[in-house]
Amino acid sequence: MSERPLIEITRLKKAFGQNVVLKDITLQVRKGEVVAMIGPSGSGKSTLLRCINLLSVPNAGCITVGEQTIEFNGAHTTLPNERQLARFRASTGMVFQHFNLFPHMTALQNVMEGPVTVLKTPKAQAQAEARALLAKVGLLDRADYYPDKLSGGQKQRVAIARALAMKPAVMLFDEATSALDPELVGEVLNVIKGLAKEGMTMILVTHEIAFAREVADQVIFMRDGVVAEYGPPSIVIDHPRQDATRAFLGRFK
Ligand code: ADP
Ligand code: MG
Repeated sequence: MSERPLIEITRLKKAFGQNVVLKDITLQVRKGEVVAMIGPSGSGKSTLLRCINLLSVPNAGCITVGEQTIEFNGAHTTLPNERQLARFRASTGMVFQHFNLFPHMTALQNVMEGPVTVLKTPKAQAQAEARALLAKVGLLDRADYYPDKLSGGQKQRVAIARALAMKPAVMLFDEATSALDPELVGEVLNVIKGLAKEGMTMILVTHEIAFAREVADQVIFMRDGVVAEYGPPSIVIDHPRQDATRAFLGRFK
């Protein structure tokens, strides 16, 4: 077994016009590690996740996920062909704040869709796997429900099952509980906690500081497009080095 990190982000830059949103981000995530990303609104957290998932194309730098590496150099970037791009995307499962389920599909169909269309998994197999994943997130009894008949917490658990169905190497969560009523947050955090116990590699953007302290191996504090602090929760959350981190965390006390 090599000791190479599962995810390596090197000198990543992303700008929207004149607005430089990610400035030289370098970051490594090991297999099985849970990384929580915290920081003020607008600091670049979502953009970083979107770059790892290639929903956003960086201007410079390099991203490796497992065996796949893509280098970015502005207009000269050669993105992989569509097949490779789909494969790269599939290796990073993304869960958004607003679920983004397909409204015209049942929970089961939502979970089966990626495997059937992208991975070309035979339907019967995709359905069996989707049912197992719905069971895992506690929603097997909702398999035939459409999203508009599900609560926010249930929708988000379907979204997690749907991302897992692609058998990603890493799961990326962008404020997965921010849009939920407070009483529904726990059921989603419990699913994420279960994944952490199973050794799933995850990067989670969250404002649930207590949760980050509990599940994260490493915490990133993002500020103005840079990794301002990085380390275990016992340092970054409990004994931050910078005033800006302390000020930010003070809001959650
Ligand atoms: P966070 O998730 O930490 O709140 P974001 O990554 O969403 O921060 O945003 C960082 C900065 O990038 C903000 O200034 C935001 O306005 C800008 N930004 C994000 N996405 C886009 C986009 N698609 N087009 C232009 N600017 C964007
Ligand atoms: Mg965001």
